[in-house]
Amino acid sequence: STAIVWFRRDLRLADNPALDAALAAHARVLPLYIHAPDEEAPWEPGAASRWWLHHSLAALADDLARRGARLHIARGASLDVLQALAHATGADAVYWNRLYEPAIVARDKRVKHELRAQGTAAHSHNGAMFAEPWEIETGQGGPYRVFTPYWRKLRATLEPRTPLPAPARIDAPALAGSLALDALGLLPRIPWDTGFHENWTPGEAGAHAALADFCGDGLVDYATDRDRPDLPGTSRLSPHLHFGEISPRQIHWQLDAYARDAGGRTQGLRAAAEPYLRELGWRDFSLHLLYHFPHTPERNLNPAFDAFPWAPRDDDALAAWRRGRTGVPIVDAGMRELWHTGWMHNRVRMVVASFLTKNLRQHWSHGARWFWDTLVDADLANNTQGWQWTAGTGADASPYFRIFNPVSQGERFDPDGSYVRRWVPELARFPAKLVHEPWKDATLLARSGYPEPVVDLKESREAALEAYQAMKG
Ligand code: FAD
Repeated sequence: STAIVWFRRDLRLADNPALDAALAAHARVLPLYIHAPDEEAPWEPGAASRWWLHHSLAALADDLARRGARLHIARGASLDVLQALAHATGADAVYWNRLYEPAIVARDKRVKHELRAQGTAAHSHNGAMFAEPWEIETGQGGPYRVFTPYWRKLRATLEPRTPLPAPARIDAPALAGSLALDALGLLPRIPWDTGFHENWTPGEAGAHAALADFCGDGLVDYATDRDRPDLPGTSRLSPHLHFGEISPRQIHWQLDAYARDAGGRTQGLRAAAEPYLRELGWRDFSLHLLYHFPHTPERNLNPAFDAFPWAPRDDDALAAWRRGRTGVPIVDAGMRELWHTGWMHNRVRMVVASFLTKNLRQHWSHGARWFWDTLVDADLANNTQGWQWTAGTGADASPYFRIFNPVSQGERFDPDGSYVRRWVPELARFPAKLVHEPWKDATLLARSGYPEPVVDLKESREAALEAYQAMKG
């Protein structure tokens, strides 16, 4: 018999439960990708995500071709495409791995219902999370809103588990009519993507290479170096995870295997892996929140903030922030890193988000939208959670009154200023003690071509605190 495997954001062959189940039960399997961005509205993939998607699909198609199968690419309403292809190939079942964004959950429910109503089996699997949103509940039943108890509960269930192997061969039904990948128009028309090519290798092999690099180098010092944007201290696996080129379970297994192979250093590595696993726990937690509170990409999780006096939309300030021209070095370094590479270090994401929502008092949704378009790892769950957490409007939030001071953050996490100098070349000549507050040397600043700060950090901080008091009062 024949089945369709509907690839979505699980662009890998190993540890892919939907693919594995389809191959176990059917002689022939059609690997399919459907381009239907409007079904994800209002959160259709942004420009940087589309770049990644193009290259990740190309890698998947190559990996499939090596196993004797061709990736079939289609465009249109998912249900129509699935029904037409089931008819054309005689497939009696469709397999996929689940996603948790509200628009996609609704679409998938409808697709499952309609396929079954017409006699086609529809099987969905967990390919993306340690534990799905409904599997972790508080003692009273219902979702968690606070990370630490959530993580305690999830962590107790986690055991490293041998990942499913990639199939050696896939027999696909002969089928004409696939679109060429280029026909999807995912790549930019003006080539702004050179920095992306220098920084990333989308696809399953690229994901495993990034993990191997990290295990061999960054992992031991992750707990101390993960907050340092000037060091290569984190794994940079976020876009690979977003597109499902690697699964959290594969990573867990790999971390454990690495600790086992490392002999005498084992204990140290086990301990080092723990804070990393915890970050993967935050990823599961974000998905848990998005699933249970599906309004949060648009609205505050904490409704008290619906009354917060945001400043009126300020297009000049927003433009300066987006272009990395605010005059605040670590903010501008982060925003330029984002523009050039499609990624920004987590510590700096928090600093730029705090600056936008507190010093500039612009609504967090302006920042979330810009990140959505420019991040290669743009992820509705993580992005929403990251913005609401930093803005103080979310679950388990950093309280609103904890306003990051970008100068002291810079001095602490980029101590010799090398991160700032790499992305803000105007500041190359500034000594370490001035590089995070270049306005202290007016002559040097005037010569550098770097702007004065768009806001006074101290005054804007006080104004933000007053706004917070006004909301509470
Ligand atoms: P590592 O430190 O190596 O962490 C490993 C993995 O754990 C990451 O790849 C990621 O999947 C997960 N992870 C790490 N930190 C977090 C976190 N705070 N919340 C949830 N998961 C986490 N992450 C995204 O993947 N997509 C986004 O769109 C996104 N937007 C963000 C917006 C803001 C304002 C903030 C503050 C954070 C955002 N994050 C987002 C979370 C975090 O910044 C990135 O996951 C991380 O920087 C990715 O780099 P890495 O893979 O080297 O991380």
